[in-house]
Amino acid sequence: MDVLEKIVSLSKRRGFIFPGSEIYGGLGGTWDYGPVGCLLKKNVKDEWWKDMVSLRDDIVGVDAAIMMNPRAWEASGHVEAFVDPLVECKICHKRFREDHFKEFLKSVPVGVGNVAPKKEYQDLFICSNGKPHALEKLTEPRVFNLLVESLIGVTEPKEKIYLRGEITNGVHVNFKNVVDSTRIKIPFGIAQIGKAFRNEITPGNFTFRSREFEQMEVQYYIRPDEKEGEKWFQYWKDNRMEWYLKLGMKKENLRFRDHAPSERAHYARAATDIEYNAPWGWSEFMGIHHRGDWDLRRHQEYSGRDLRYKDLERNEEYIPWDIESSAGVDRSTLFFLIDSFVEEEKRIVLRLHPRLAPYKVAVFPLVANNAEIVTKAHTIYKNLKPFFSATWDDRGNIGKRYFAQDEIGTPFCATIDHQTLDDDAITIRDRDTMKQDRVKIPNIVNYIKDRLEK
Ligand code: ATP
Repeated sequence: MDVLEKIVSLSKRRGFIFPGSEIYGGLGGTWDYGPVGCLLKKNVKDEWWKDMVSLRDDIVGVDAAIMMNPRAWEASGHVEAFVDPLVECKICHKRFREDHFKEFLKSVPVGVGNVAPKKEYQDLFICSNGKPHALEKLTEPRVFNLLVESLIGVTEPKEKIYLRGEITNGVHVNFKNVVDSTRIKIPFGIAQIGKAFRNEITPGNFTFRSREFEQMEVQYYIRPDEKEGEKWFQYWKDNRMEWYLKLGMKKENLRFRDHAPSERAHYARAATDIEYNAPWGWSEFMGIHHRGDWDLRRHQEYSGRDLRYKDLERNEEYIPWDIESSAGVDRSTLFFLIDSFVEEEKRIVLRLHPRLAPYKVAVFPLVANNAEIVTKAHTIYKNLKPFFSATWDDRGNIGKRYFAQDEIGTPFCATIDHQTLDDDAITIRDRDTMKQDRVKIPNIVNYIKDRLEK
């Protein structure tokens, strides 16, 4: 089993991530987060929000609607340009992205029908003769729009709308509202976390490429000036890389990849990705884009509203430039999972940063049949809950409970035993070192807080 298969299996077994609508045979490219997965994902978002909004004075948040007036998508260029070139096999008429197929071919022995890697692509990339499609049988690439369409209204004809293909537009259309309703001044940012939808042709690599996913973004508005642009582009590159390192991602698994001018998105003056060394190769999970004044200028043009910023300090009016940092919540969560996954001789451990761990502490009564111990343990558990995400386990033996908590990355396990009834202390076991400390009950909260803050 490769690492990805192990992560998929762990995710199912322990409740991180399940295939979307699984009991109906699933829906391609959709995933449901289970009890521990939704905690992990929430922690990723909360840490992001804390660093991007709560601890800063220059960034405010919004939470815009997923459904927008379709004109917004014409203005941003998505209706026209949010497209992927697809090729079609002239023999079996399957359609797919040529670059994905070529990447797939690299992992397949030439001419052999037996394709082990990248299971999710097998169907798409295998022709009716059981072998990968022949390159000479592919059509020229043609473009298909990635925006997911929907219909609203109760009477016919219903109105066609798009589910947002990225969350950016909801920020730009509120630029003026935010400026007018707050005291914020340029340079400043608007942050948002939310769902986006894309008709991905080849969803795959678990949650990496999904049709429904979440993004966390800051649009950082600056004065339209080359030097300012360079300064803030570099600032956000450093800032974002630092964030992933701070939360424990291994440096050797992260890198920047600057976009060549020919591959930049239609709006970008400069662009770089942060890539992760995934089991299937280096892959983007966040992008930093210098979008210039593209978005605000287009929205001004299409809406007919004046979106210029009045810079009272400089006595100027201008359309600001925007440096965007756009990260995938699901891809970040997946890479935190992969990066922290360690197989030891006798256990599997998720060495997640404690701030990301779904539960910070698991509480166990050593035995389940001693009422005094169970009651004491329960009181401790209830008292910890207001401070930390905590879980309870009284099944099986202590070894099995440790094993289960290690697999979901719980940094501390607190055991209440016979001695607790005499000395008012419990045993706290550390996930990574497996060392055990005896801690007095009144000190437990501070003990865990200190360790979490390290
Ligand atoms: P890719 O080249 O992989 O399709 P992209 O360059 O189109 O990605 P952006 O439009 O820059 O991606 O979106 C910003 C972020 O949103 C990405 O870095 C990624 O983390 C996330 N993202 C984009 N598409 C998907 C998807 N289909 N599934 C999950 N996350 C996605």
